[in-house]
Amino acid sequence: MAELLKAIKGMNDILPPDSARWEWLEDKVRQLMRRYGYLNMRTPIVEPTALFVRGLGEVTDIVEKEMYSFEDSLNGDKLTLRPEGTAGAVRAINEHSFLYEGGKRLYYIGPMFRHERPQKGRYRQFHQVGAEVLGFAGPDVDAELILMTAALWRDLGLKVGEDVRLQLNSLGQPEERLAHREALIRHLEAHADLLDDEAKRRLHSNPLRILDTKNAAMQPVVEAAPKLIDFLGEASLAHFNAVRTVLDAAGLPYEVNPRLVRGMDYYNLTVFEWVTERLGSQGTVCGGGRYDGLIEQLGGKPAPAVGWGLGMERLLLLLQEVGIEAPATSPDAFAIVLAGTPLHAVMDALEKLRAQGVSVVLNPAGKDGAASAKSQFKKADASGARFALVFGPDEVARGEVALKPLRGGGEQQVRALAAAAEWAPTLAARS
Ligand code: ATP
Ligand code: MG
Repeated sequence: MAELLKAIKGMNDILPPDSARWEWLEDKVRQLMRRYGYLNMRTPIVEPTALFVRGLGEVTDIVEKEMYSFEDSLNGDKLTLRPEGTAGAVRAINEHSFLYEGGKRLYYIGPMFRHERPQKGRYRQFHQVGAEVLGFAGPDVDAELILMTAALWRDLGLKVGEDVRLQLNSLGQPEERLAHREALIRHLEAHADLLDDEAKRRLHSNPLRILDTKNAAMQPVVEAAPKLIDFLGEASLAHFNAVRTVLDAAGLPYEVNPRLVRGMDYYNLTVFEWVTERLGSQGTVCGGGRYDGLIEQLGGKPAPAVGWGLGMERLLLLLQEVGIEAPATSPDAFAIVLAGTPLHAVMDALEKLRAQGVSVVLNPAGKDGAASAKSQFKKADASGARFALVFGPDEVARGEVALKPLRGGGEQQVRALAAAAEWAPTLAARS
């Protein structure tokens, strides 16, 4: 036998029955986006490497060590598999002058790629739902984006404040961050002996990220560090408070976490994360915030923007942890074809039923012809269908089919195929 070829480590196949959970989640997301008036966008999975280097920042984890970057061997272009969705979304809206007529609310669902150590909740190809609001500066859209994530948790059956908790912070504006950064570097330098190698390396490039350290030995230094929130001016504080007021009025619990910084450099003002304790160290399910400078940084006409990204694998793992199942996706009917039945008549009848909205699965005969009625009924049962349609030579000759309920009892009945429009809808009706 030829050698068995395998998928790349950290990149997963999503097959039935698991794919049904994905479709269920995607349906919920699409319904949510429709309710809030967000329109779908789809951008390429591969972008020029420069987009992410310029967009996310050169000293971010993603750009430093997680990107799948390569040279197109045919023309030498420097390309990267997208590690996140915001940079590509902004590239697209800039390229198409998409904000020309005003702001936009957009969303996407799709794969992202990061070269990380694969583990539960952390993969090399993973999937995000992203929502981006571009062209609006007010705190209303920040609050809306947060409220809609809370609405999604509720739609899925998660308990807000229990299964998932909201953390909120404000990063202020660049000049406020600069003042804080200087104070922070002074503080960290004063305790240089307590910093680990990574922190030392980041001291002058990305000191804010040091506050995010998981190194227990550094916690005292980090705890005592100057807080960005104390450097915020009036306008930044007003923006933050306006977001908080909406969340408070909505009764949405959150925790202000002054140490919350996000992995990308493009954020300002509002940042937030939805975290769970149920997924170990892969605890962030969704994160987002404002990125008012990014559009201009990527060559577009300056415009404010805010958004979030949600890890679908982590969300599905969390749902599983909590015991929330997607509803079963069984067919309405399973077609049993007895020996000697003219196949063209069966398939014609099935097409008519499907045209009426009935989902019906044909039991394939294989090369030996029809299997026994008994074994076909077994398969019908296993399919989860609520009805078996039994096509026999005599019934079909009379223009009929036998209909047998497989769930919840009831007698087998005979139906006229010519009158399918009348009885077919009862097969598709869900109780
Ligand atoms: P983490 O701190 O866990 O590495 P992150 O800050 O890198 O997360 P973001 O860049 O904010 O994550 O991406 C948004 C969401 O995408 C995360 O909250 C998470 O749910 C998901 N995510 C990020 N990286 C991965 C990955 N490698 N595998 C699966 N999901 C991921
Ligand atoms: Mg990460």
